[in-house]
Amino acid sequence: MSEQVTNWAGNIVFAAERVRRPSSVAELQELVAGAGRVRVLGSGHSFNRIADTTGDLVSLAGMPRVIEISPDRTQVRVDGGIRYGDLLAELNAAGVALHNTASLPHISVAGAIMTATHGSGESHQNLAAKVSSIELVRADGERVVLRRGEPGFAGSVVGLGALGVITALTLDLVPAFEIRQYVYDDLTRDSLGANLDAVLSAGYSVSLFTNWRSTTINLAWLKRLDEMPAGPFFGAVPADGKRGPIPGMDPANATDQGGVPGPWHARLPHFKLEFTPSSGAELQSEYMVPRSRALEAIDAVASVRDKIAPVLQVNEIRTVAADDLWLSMNYQQDSLGLHFTWVADTAAVLPAVRALEGALAGLSPRPHWGKVFTMPAATIRSRYDRFADFTELVRHYDPTGKFRNEWLDDLLG
Ligand SMILES: Cc1cc2nc3c(=O)[nH]c(=O)nc-3n(C[C@H](O)[C@H](O)[C@H](O)COP(=O)(O)OP(=O)(O)OC[C@H]3O[C@@H](n4cnc5c(N)ncnc54)[C@H](O)[C@@H]3O)c2cc1C
Repeated sequence: MSEQVTNWAGNIVFAAERVRRPSSVAELQELVAGAGRVRVLGSGHSFNRIADTTGDLVSLAGMPRVIEISPDRTQVRVDGGIRYGDLLAELNAAGVALHNTASLPHISVAGAIMTATHGSGESHQNLAAKVSSIELVRADGERVVLRRGEPGFAGSVVGLGALGVITALTLDLVPAFEIRQYVYDDLTRDSLGANLDAVLSAGYSVSLFTNWRSTTINLAWLKRLDEMPAGPFFGAVPADGKRGPIPGMDPANATDQGGVPGPWHARLPHFKLEFTPSSGAELQSEYMVPRSRALEAIDAVASVRDKIAPVLQVNEIRTVAADDLWLSMNYQQDSLGLHFTWVADTAAVLPAVRALEGALAGLSPRPHWGKVFTMPAATIRSRYDRFADFTELVRHYDPTGKFRNEWLDDLLG
């Protein structure tokens, strides 16, 4: 390929022959119908080869932007290339909101949905669970619309880009709301152990950040609809200034904290849209384990902290509510998400990832589809009751394997 294209982190150089940038759905349909191998690239924020292809890599970033709010203001239809960052402020201006966001708004909506991207919150499902319809260009170039409740829909939403090209999606909305962020320093293991449920449910969304240099959680980061009482939080002390998620990182690019109320879209992401969160000098892994075994899981991570801490920038601990999407990491399971931001050194990070997977093995972890993992595909398949049905669905939509790549071939077996 004359134009070298990498993912955001730069750890993946795509093998594509060329990059195509259609400017209309009709042009895209023609391109897909005539392509040998094809794959869509969203905003390229995944850390593995999920988006790769040896054929045409298609970017929908230049397609016409679509933001259509339904007359009853409960749904929004968006195009398949839009980023959350292009959408959130527009929704807020119209008095509506998404129920939750990921930690950064720079990712594309379709790309996030394809990998079951999530935020945090005991009662909040991941972003894919709020998709009510999908408009898809199939391998033969035909356009189909899949709606919630129809057979196969629950298998198509977290589709890993395997079923076709998403040209539009419809998402559930809630009324716009204000929210506040509070950050506390140093939550000890003993306090966390004694108060785990109260800590994790202490806000609309709760994230715990630690670099595992000790067993104390560095930061408890709460997003609350109402004001937090003054004083410590289960022994953790209110931060004396703004904090970034990574200890020692410049906090300028983090969304506003200190309990100052602000619109949902300016508080739910950890990072501001107008800043690039970092240079991309990182790798990420994440595992979903049963919420009911949260403390066991946190202690399992602590048991290998000497192996992971040297290459770890930060571990974020979150919760996600169960859903019914076949390949969602939260499929029929309220979950604890153990997210790891590593240093940008694959060779040094992989042994830590293996040690972590070993420590978590007894908790049947489901790895995040968009991040770095080393678990064998057969193990991953065994974690999803509907995996065989998903494989069937892929064959139905893409009988010749146009959207397949090495990553998917390995996973599907
Ligand atoms: C700094 C950073 C922070 C992150 N924070 C979070 C977080 O808070 N929570 C979380 O869960 N994850 C998080 N992630 C992971 C990220 O959300 C996922 O990797 C997500 O898939 C990235 O979206 P993308 O648009 O970059 O998708 P890409 O990486 O470009 O693509 C992902 C998949 O979607 C497919 N795809 C994209 N667009 C389409 C389309 N229109 N039609 C069909 N297939 C398509 C691609 O082919 C590929 O298979 C983070 C990643 C980074 C780099």
